[in-house]
Amino acid sequence: MSETYQIAVFDGDGIGPEITAPCLEILDAAMARVGEIDARYTHLPAGAKAYLDEGVALPDRSVAEAHKADAILLSAMGDPDIRYPDGTELVPQIELRIRLGLYAGVRPVRSIPGVRLPLGDARARDMDFVLVRESTEGLFASIGKGVVEQNEARETMVITRKGTEDVVRFSLALADQRRRDGQGPGLLTCVDKANVFSAFAFFREIFDAEAARFPDVRTNHAYVDAMAIEMLRRPWDLDVLVTENMFGDILSDLGAGLMGGLGFAPSADIGDEDAVFQPCHGSAPDIAGKGLANPTAMFLSGGMMLEWIGERQGSASATKAGHLIRDAVDMAFSDGDLVTVDQGGEVGTRAVFDRVMQCLQKVTPRPTV
Ligand code: NAD
Repeated sequence: MSETYQIAVFDGDGIGPEITAPCLEILDAAMARVGEIDARYTHLPAGAKAYLDEGVALPDRSVAEAHKADAILLSAMGDPDIRYPDGTELVPQIELRIRLGLYAGVRPVRSIPGVRLPLGDARARDMDFVLVRESTEGLFASIGKGVVEQNEARETMVITRKGTEDVVRFSLALADQRRRDGQGPGLLTCVDKANVFSAFAFFREIFDAEAARFPDVRTNHAYVDAMAIEMLRRPWDLDVLVTENMFGDILSDLGAGLMGGLGFAPSADIGDEDAVFQPCHGSAPDIAGKGLANPTAMFLSGGMMLEWIGERQGSASATKAGHLIRDAVDMAFSDGDLVTVDQGGEVGTRAVFDRVMQCLQKVTPRPTV
């Protein structure tokens, strides 16, 4: 029986629409290759354009529609030239995570064959770890609530028991799944600053209590500053990391850098009912409208979306189509001749799209398990 999934799409700002359109074609092609599965897309307003048109960056009806969909695909939002009166930027992508309770920000850091890596060590080719960023609280709980006085400004970080339990349980389950899939050793690292802040000692205490319920997952702790250098020194030894929102925000860009650039790093923000899939990068206004954006992170995010639908809805077809996208991206770059603009080359959006599309027809589908 044929399956149809409803996908809410936020085309976003800057390079957003330029990478969304080809991503939808890639999704359709992957599903067509599997057969008996397709998607309907509902394009929803949010971002800088929505703010100019409607005076609100994330309209309520967009959130309601997104919540009704089977999954949400988002490119990137924001425009540094369009700001709130207090000087801060519009961040509807962050607001969406908070409003839909998407506590687990999943940031895979993996070496794509053929993509130039900044680390010269050959072991960097084996790098395959996942950073899980708590995505609804931490320092970001202070958005819109910062206090600025004449000579002092304050923002308050919030770490709740529930928010921490949710993200730690998710991360333990992920480490366990990767162990069972032979993708990792089953090691979860708590990344915090428990040596200095009581809020992080609280985070760590909850982490340890939750970890005790997963005897098959080994756990350890690292301070965030030490982890920053560990990510550079031995990223191939890492498996799953879990951390607070602001630390995760910064470390995920470091992770993208390890992969070869922001244009290669996909992500998912997952809650109990909804999930948003989007590249780690922003709207890149400096290259918008020039056809230079690397769409790979967007394609990989679309692939993660299909894999998540597959798992959540028990659809082997969706899982298969998601794997096809990941494998097609790996094949597309494997010769090393596709050097994108963010890697210092000249290959733009269209050329990456054409190659991934060709590879989608060539890759061998993985066997259904
Ligand atoms: P950015 O990620 O947009 O860009 C940083 C640099 O990386 C730029 O030089 C850009 O050209 C390059 N880059 C990013 N994505 C690329 C791609 N796919 N291909 C090639 N090069 C790429 O970060 P920024 O410049 O700090 O922010 C720009 C805007 O994006 C701001 O308004 C910011 O608030 C917003 N932003 C949004 C998100 C999101 O929607 N998730 C995340 C970060 C920043």
